[in-house]
Parts: sequence; structure tokens; C-alpha cells
Amino acid sequence: MAILYRSKTEIEGIRRAGQVVMEILAVLREAVRPGVTTGELDAIAARELARREARSNFKGYVPRKGIPPFPGVICASVNDEIVHGIPGRRVLQEGDIIAVDFGAIVDGWHGDSAVTLPVGAVTAEAERLLTVTREALWRGIAQVRPGNRVSDISKAVQGYVEGQGCAVVRQYVGHGIGRALHEEPSVPNYFDPDPRVPDPRLRPGMVICIEPMVNLGAADTRELRDHWTVATADGSLSAHFEHTVAVTSGEPDVLTAHVASPAA
Ligand code: MG
Ligand code: MG
Repeated sequence: MAILYRSKTEIEGIRRAGQVVMEILAVLREAVRPGVTTGELDAIAARELARREARSNFKGYVPRKGIPPFPGVICASVNDEIVHGIPGRRVLQEGDIIAVDFGAIVDGWHGDSAVTLPVGAVTAEAERLLTVTREALWRGIAQVRPGNRVSDISKAVQGYVEGQGCAVVRQYVGHGIGRALHEEPSVPNYFDPDPRVPDPRLRPGMVICIEPMVNLGAADTRELRDHWTVATADGSLSAHFEHTVAVTSGEPDVLTAHVASPAA
């Protein structure tokens, strides 16, 4: 599959999908509190999608043969869970952190974003993890300029995160987005110096999702028995932030810019 370059009109289509994603993430942000279940958050997101006549790009997703289709419209990953947590009966507790990854399809265009939220008051350590991961995302976004390479994003994210004494997850990476949720190129959060690894230049019209996943402990992951949820191998806390970003001839254009809340 080749990298696709989008026209300005097409990018506006992706922006509309991105804005729906952010409107709904703003609703979810208000709903996250001790006592709510991840399944209730999923139901809110499903209702908000329907109200906007938007579709889910997560529900029913099958990443490879033999994996059950993803059952939710959000991924809800709590504490040591990194990504792809299945929403369900889990009750959020004061002091938890929850990564909400969410996407939508509007008029055939895909948007994708993630935010990690504190549930009530959290430890200073957890607060720091959220700050580091959000900042890593924005350092990656700052590299989205024509002429730079994908690895400039990777290096900015990894250098910052490791400088803060945290670890970036390697098994899961960012991606191109447009008519499909996952397109070329891959956007890793670490730099692999192997010259065989593709490292395309960023050119106007490319639309990518940058999504650092950061662990307080080691980078190693484990997959839970549900075939979906990915957690830290050492049980340490993990956070995830993501935006959909277009390469322009100048500044990065964040297509999942915030609509209601200034944080993250
Ligand atoms: Mg996502
Ligand atoms: Mg993504």
C-alpha cells in the first residue's frame, strides 16, 4: 500500500471526522468519574455517534485472522493497560487513569484521537506520566513539517520520553489515516536505525496519526487473554495520547483540534 496525498478538500473531510471525534471525547471527559463503568462510557460514545449520523471505525475491527472483532466504539485502557482495552463492566475507581482511544467515520473519512484522563485525584506519579505523554505527542506534532522524515517525529517523541525516565512502547505505532483507519506510513514512537525500515519524507497532503504510548516502567507489553487488551509486562502505569495531523506547506494542521476543553 502506498502513501496517499490528500487534496485540501479531502483534508477538510478528515477534519470534519476529527471534529466529531473531539466533540464526543469532550462528552466522555465529562462522564469520567469514580463509579462509572467503561461500558457506560462506550454506550455514551455510541449514542453520540448515532446522534451525529457518524459511524464507528473501531467496532467490528478485525486486525488479523482469528481475532474476535472489537466489540466497542471506544478503547478503554485503565492503569497498566496500554491500548485496546475492551469496554465493559470495569468500574472506575478514584485514583485510576483511563486512556480513551476513539475514532469516527464521517462521509467516508476517518478521524482518530486518544486522551488519558485522571479519575478523581491521582498520584503525583500518575499526573507526571500524563504530562510527559501529552508533551511527547506535541513534540512529535512539532516535527510535522515538509522535508522532515517520519523518523524526526519518532526521535522527538522517544528522546523526550526517555529523557524523562519513562519508556515508549514499540509494538504499537501511529499510522496514516484517510479513507481507512490505518493507512501508510507507520509512525513509530522510537527510532530504528536499520536502513531497511521505511522512513518517508513528510510531504503536504499526508495525514498521519501520532500516538505515543508511554510506560512509567519498562517498555515491554503483554496481551491479555481477551486477545485485545495490551498491558505493561511489569504492571507499571501507562498513558496514551493521539492526534490526527495533516502535513501542510508550513505549520502542522491538527485535524483533531480541541473543541471544548483546553487540556491535552
Ligand atoms: Mg486511536
Ligand atoms: Mg490511531
